[in-house]
Amino acid sequence: SAEVKLAVFGKAGVGKSALVVRFLTKRFIWEYDPTLESTYRHQANVDDEVVNMDILDTAGQEDTLQREGHVRWGDGFIVVYDITDRGSFEEVAPLKGLLEEVKKPKHVTLVLVGNKADLEHARQVSTEEGERLAAEMACAFYECSACTGEGAVSEAFYELCREVRRR
Ligand code: GDP
Ligand code: MG
Repeated sequence: SAEVKLAVFGKAGVGKSALVVRFLTKRFIWEYDPTLESTYRHQANVDDEVVNMDILDTAGQEDTLQREGHVRWGDGFIVVYDITDRGSFEEVAPLKGLLEEVKKPKHVTLVLVGNKADLEHARQVSTEEGERLAAEMACAFYECSACTGEGAVSEAFYELCREVRRR
């Protein structure tokens, strides 16, 4: 079996905790303490391999040192933005910069997730923009909703495991 440490990053309110809870329980928890930082252990079969995941749901309140510690800890990263919040999308590139700075000279393994796809009427970031950014970052991209479960929430986690295992 394989051990993979995954950390979830993104601006406060994008739905990091909701996505982790959706992945782990297939449920949506409407209100989740935004200041809570949690780690979860989860076992899954990914391509016929048993993978033990440690998942860190960051709270976004950490200072720089703690943040760097989280980056150093992770083997792979789920970077989340909210399709209804352009500001959260604009935070992705700087976040990638931080990951690279802390991990260098190692390659940064990440997947990009545009969450809250159920809120189409309030969309501020087009699917094409998400795809373009992911292409620039050479990573996989998923639009999904932690709320309805639409899109590929689990697939984002599984793909990240695959990519970590490939490195
Ligand atoms: P975090 O700060 O990134 O961990 O964000 P949370 O998981 O705490 O979610 C922030 C808010 O967005 C909460 O009110 C959630 O109910 C809501 N939320 C999270 N994911 C979704 C989603 O996919 N769709 C909708 N409509 N709301 C969501
Ligand atoms: Mg949270």
